[in-house]
Amino acid sequence: MAGHGALDPSTLPVRVGILTVSDSCAKQLADDASGKHLKEMVLSLLGGSVAAYKIVPDDMDQIKMCLIDWCDQEELNLILTTGGTGFSPRDVTPEATREVIEREAPGLAVAMLMGSLTVTPLAMLSRPICGIRGKSLIINLPGSKKASRECFQLVLPALGHAIDLLREACVRIKAVHRELATHGLSTVPRQPSSPDGGPASPQASSGEHKAPSPRPGMLVVHGRDTLGSADASGKVSVVHGVSEGRSSEVRPQSWGKGCSSHTARSTVDVTKVARRARSSPFPLTSMDKAFVTVLETAPVLNKEPVHYTESLGRVLAQDVIAKDNLPSFPASIKDGYAVRAADGPGDRLVIGEVHAGQQVWCYSPPVQAVMPGQVMRITTGAPIPSGADAVIQVEDTELLKESENGTEELEVRILNQARPGQDIRCIGQDIRRGECVLSRGSQLGPAEVGLLATLGAAHVEVHRLPVVAVMSTGNELLDSEEPLQPGMIHDSNRPTLVAAIREHGFLTLDLGIVRDHPDELLRAFREGLTRADVIVSSGGVSMGEKDYLKQVLTVDLQAQIHFGRVFMKPGLPTTFATVNTNGKKKMIFALPGNPVSATVTCNLFVIPALRKMQGTVDPRPTILKARLSFDVKLDSRPEYHRCILVWNHQEPIPWAQSTGNQLSSRLCSMRRANGLVMLPPKTEQYLELHKGEVVDVMVIGRL
Ligand code: AMP
Ligand code: MG
Repeated sequence: MAGHGALDPSTLPVRVGILTVSDSCAKQLADDASGKHLKEMVLSLLGGSVAAYKIVPDDMDQIKMCLIDWCDQEELNLILTTGGTGFSPRDVTPEATREVIEREAPGLAVAMLMGSLTVTPLAMLSRPICGIRGKSLIINLPGSKKASRECFQLVLPALGHAIDLLREACVRIKAVHRELATHGLSTVPRQPSSPDGGPASPQASSGEHKAPSPRPGMLVVHGRDTLGSADASGKVSVVHGVSEGRSSEVRPQSWGKGCSSHTARSTVDVTKVARRARSSPFPLTSMDKAFVTVLETAPVLNKEPVHYTESLGRVLAQDVIAKDNLPSFPASIKDGYAVRAADGPGDRLVIGEVHAGQQVWCYSPPVQAVMPGQVMRITTGAPIPSGADAVIQVEDTELLKESENGTEELEVRILNQARPGQDIRCIGQDIRRGECVLSRGSQLGPAEVGLLATLGAAHVEVHRLPVVAVMSTGNELLDSEEPLQPGMIHDSNRPTLVAAIREHGFLTLDLGIVRDHPDELLRAFREGLTRADVIVSSGGVSMGEKDYLKQVLTVDLQAQIHFGRVFMKPGLPTTFATVNTNGKKKMIFALPGNPVSATVTCNLFVIPALRKMQGTVDPRPTILKARLSFDVKLDSRPEYHRCILVWNHQEPIPWAQSTGNQLSSRLCSMRRANGLVMLPPKTEQYLELHKGEVVDVMVIGRL
């Protein structure tokens, strides 16, 4: 035990063993995705070191031998097993664990089961055992990558303190207990002091954050009737490890009333910069896979009625069927004379006139029909009078006789032979009654708006437009209204992203500039999740020590990170996650901070996703062929080179002109860009492309 002045064990890194239990992985028939992912999470979320890693088959003896060795010989602090917890006859990990442990830790298993049941009822079929042997804590996690990740995140809040207790880390344990005693049971414990007695975080010392977050492993205890120490059972809830959709018993109090923004507290540890991961725990996802993932994940939003005058740009959620024929009467296509075709050319008596929108008017009532030897004056769009079966345009006639004052034509000469039906639009020629004129999924442009009016469809059902909350993250950012200060820059991403999203007709919500602190990020995300369908952030997703965003997503928001890095340039740290909020899946695009990276990835991922959400049948961007007007060295990653598409007369395809230096901070490289040249990654054979070569270009602006 650490005495006065002795080294506190809590200052040593947590040593973790990961034991994958799987017949197929042991035979190398399957990849150990879960074990590898757990390794990454141990590094990034627990700040621990993976001291041992092994794959064994579903075999009692081998599992037991390994666990005993890691507890007794290696003295690991934490052993995570993954796999073998189900119902199949070979699943014996819990049995092996039970035979090895000296004391059970059922609270951890209950936390995992309660959390997992909110994800799937099949969690009932998981049989995790958690317990202690010597100073080692053993936790059975499920075998699948997703489930093991979720369960690990569920127990994560308690792990730090559990490990401290097991290795008798006095300083930290006392700090936790002191906090509980000082602030009562219903408050969030303050950040424990660092081992040297100094303030736990720079933020805490500077007074920037009055109530620092608990670090991973600290319990947050609610309710007067509960425990006096952090490791007791009872009505204990953990700040992260529950999502909004979960039952109220496990929901932290501060989230109860519509997650008011000022109460959002992150549990991400901001103190241990020295223990941050030095390589990203997120695997590199290919561009294709990332794009498909986004499109598959994006939901098509519900429908709502809209007046046709407000329908421009919307996507129909219904078929629009014609109730009437258009025209509903045979109508003249020309200004001229309604004639009897059989009469042929010759001199004719003009017996009356018919104008568009007016009744037939005959000069000598009661004559209504055109008889042989007669014609009637007619204008475009007017109904063909009975007796007539063709129209001769005025240009093919001569006036023979007019009334005295010139107000009427009395006789004309028809110069051409008309064919029956000539220049007559027959009933339903433009639109037939019962015809589906606009089908579900049609995007409503000016012509479609006009068709709705034609059809008398005043209100139509369209898909709801996604509301996109946009935020910029970074301590260095100032609003453009504020004067520049040393070391600061104006936030350009938010205005650019808002404009890009609005340009496509979507609705935006401004979440402002958010500082690089987990609490601030959590507050902003909570607000975005409450008020919007999609959140787009920029910055804070790289490897910087203030890049907390991914941790806040995984630890606090229990987000599912679909990808955290994409093999592309620019935009490598692009992150895409979903969070279940009140039964609804909300999407989060955490884009990189560099202005070009943020804009390019918005075009590549966000806009297509929004287009799918608003019901667009094929939301993929248009890709066309163009000729490079510059030489370019290829990168090892697929690259999106900003270009201006220019058409030269007589050439079948356009030229792609570079916008210059492609540095990802240089927003000027987006200026006037209406295309992204999709440069392939270099190969041994192809290191560069040359002027004149044909490339694919993704259209991102007006052509
Ligand atoms: P980050 O992704 O947060 O590491 O930021 C990468 C770079 O982008 C840094 O140089 C930031 O200062 C810059 N940056 C981040 N956010 C913005 C923003 N909203 N507007 C302009 N530049 C930004
Ligand atoms: Mg930043």
